[in-house]
Amino acid sequence: MWTNGLAIMPELPEVETIRRELHSQILRRRLNNVTVLDPRLVQASQPKAFETRLMGALITNVARRGKYLMINVESDVLILHLMMSGRLHLRARTDIRPHTRLLLTLDDDQALHFVDVRRFGRAWITEEAHSHEVVGHLGPEPLDAGFDWRSLAIRLRGRHVAIKTALLDQRTVAGIGNIYADEALFAARIHPETPVNLLSPPKLRALTASIVTVLESGIAHQGTTFSTFETSEGSPGNNQGHLKVFRKTGQPCPSCGKNIRRIVLAQRSTHYCSNCQRKPRTVSTK
Ligand SMILES: [Zn+2]
Repeated sequence: MWTNGLAIMPELPEVETIRRELHSQILRRRLNNVTVLDPRLVQASQPKAFETRLMGALITNVARRGKYLMINVESDVLILHLMMSGRLHLRARTDIRPHTRLLLTLDDDQALHFVDVRRFGRAWITEEAHSHEVVGHLGPEPLDAGFDWRSLAIRLRGRHVAIKTALLDQRTVAGIGNIYADEALFAARIHPETPVNLLSPPKLRALTASIVTVLESGIAHQGTTFSTFETSEGSPGNNQGHLKVFRKTGQPCPSCGKNIRRIVLAQRSTHYCSNCQRKPRTVSTK
C-alpha cells in the first residue's frame, strides 16, 4: 500500500476529520469490551490493566490535541496516535481484519477497530490528559480562538532555526506536519529556510493567518490522502487536489508559474516557489 515510501503522518486536519466522524458515531456509547491484540500499541501499560480500566466506561467526549485523538471515558482519557499507518474503523465486532491492534466493542455491537500495518501507532490511558507526557508539552492549538500572531511569536522567541523546522516542532504550534507547514509558508510568501528571528510582525501575522487557512481548508476537504489516510468511514480525504506546493516539484506555481522547487530541510522534503517565497538576503546560498 505504500507507494515508493511516500506515506506521511496524519496532521491536524486528518485527525480532526476522524475526530468529527467518531464524535457523531461513538459519543454516549459504552465500552462493553476492550481487547488489546498487540501489546506494543499500549506499551506504557500492561495490556490486561489497560483493558480492565476501560471496560464498561461511557464515552463522554471525542476530542483532539494536535495530532492526538483523545477519547474521554468518564474519569479517564484514552489518547491515540495513528502515526504513519494507523486507522480507526467502526464496523461489526466480528469483522476483524489483518493488522488489527485494538478492539473497542461498543454497546451497540459495533466496534472501533484500530488497524495498523506498520505498528507505529500508540495508545495511552491517563487521568490527567493535559499534563500527560505525550501532550503536555504541545504548543497552542492553531484553530482555538486565542491563537494569534503573538502566541506564535512567543513560541519562536530566542530561536534561530529555519521557520519550516520550527513549524514541524510540535512545541511551536500543535498539529502541523510536513504538508501544512509547506502550504502555510507558501500562502504567507515566506521562504522555508528563513531564520525565525528574521520574521517581522507583519510576516508573523501573515503566517498565523495562513496556518489557520490551510488547516481549515484541509478539514473542509476531509484531510489529505497520499497513500494511507482514511476517514473512520474508510473514505480517502480530498485535500490533495487543493494543495498548492506540497509534492508539486517541477509543476508551475499556481501564483506566478515558476516551477516549484524541492529541498530537504530538517530531513524532510520541503516544497516552495523560489519566486513567491524569497530567501532573506542574510541567508547564504549554497
Ligand atoms: Zn510562485
